[in-house]
Amino acid sequence: MYNIIDGKAISAKIKEELKEQVAELKSHGAEICLAVIQVGDDKASSVYVNNKKKACEYIGIESLSYHLPAETKEAELLELIESLNQNSKVNGILVQLPVPEHIDEDRVIKAISPMKDVDGFHPESVGALSIGQSGFVSCTPAGIIQLLKRSNVEITGKECVVVGRSNIVGKPMALLLLRENGTVTICHSRTRDLKEVTKRADILVVAIGKPKFIDESYVKDGAVVIDVGIHRNEDNKLCGDVDFDSVAPKTSYITPVPGGVGPMTIAMLMHNVVEAYHMQNK
Ligand code: NDP
Repeated sequence: MYNIIDGKAISAKIKEELKEQVAELKSHGAEICLAVIQVGDDKASSVYVNNKKKACEYIGIESLSYHLPAETKEAELLELIESLNQNSKVNGILVQLPVPEHIDEDRVIKAISPMKDVDGFHPESVGALSIGQSGFVSCTPAGIIQLLKRSNVEITGKECVVVGRSNIVGKPMALLLLRENGTVTICHSRTRDLKEVTKRADILVVAIGKPKFIDESYVKDGAVVIDVGIHRNEDNKLCGDVDFDSVAPKTSYITPVPGGVGPMTIAMLMHNVVEAYHMQNK
């Protein structure tokens, strides 16, 4: 019988812990603040930004919101970021991605001070992770480590296979599993025999972006399967990169979609904002 990893419950627990920490900090006069910038009116981005604001409110973090028109010039956005870098009241800065095409995403990411880079996308944050130094870690993979740890899944010595090598999920995920002493393999679209590799995995993390791509033939008996994908199927229902119904019976632990990895991303963002406060007030 497999266990479902309940990301909703685990993220609620993390938010509760953060709420207590923030209340304690506030009782000593601290104020913690996240600045959220959205450029344009992308619907999905608006939902994400709104959820982030709600999470801040729940935990007791102040959020400053900047909603700029889609035609905002890159220079104007960079200027705003720089003013927030200089603003000592602001602990974390987040620019909701994607930005409109005329704006260079890499330049925007690099403009955020590494001390306030709560998304963990700045090259300095990524570099720190790759050489085992402390720094902000991309929220989704950091959330997956929490899911594993809080479900008492041992990582040390395990064969860990990550399918997907994006900068925000696959690569940092592999580095985090390595930091936890897993034996890590990264797969991507050019991997020659994907099944042969995924079937070796004790822990399989799937971040491909293709609905129900991974079926039971890719999975070893008793594996732990983490599904990062989010899609809407033909019936407008959410599903992941993993075909849950066929894969779950083979696993020891599996994350569902929805209610697995998804809720962890915002919880870890909130964690990073509190972490930013501590870093800046050492
Ligand atoms: P990207 O599209 O940036 O990356 C997908 C990766 O999968 C690439 O590295 C690609 O390889 C690889 N890939 C594609 N097809 C295959 C294949 N047939 N076999 C093996 N590898 C393949 O996606 P993201 O990492 O940004 O996101 C992945 C999924 O996770 C999406 O569904 C996204 O919506 C979801 N997501 C969910 C989050 C959450 O909070 N739950 C947060 C972020 C993402 P190559 O590099 O060779 O092209």
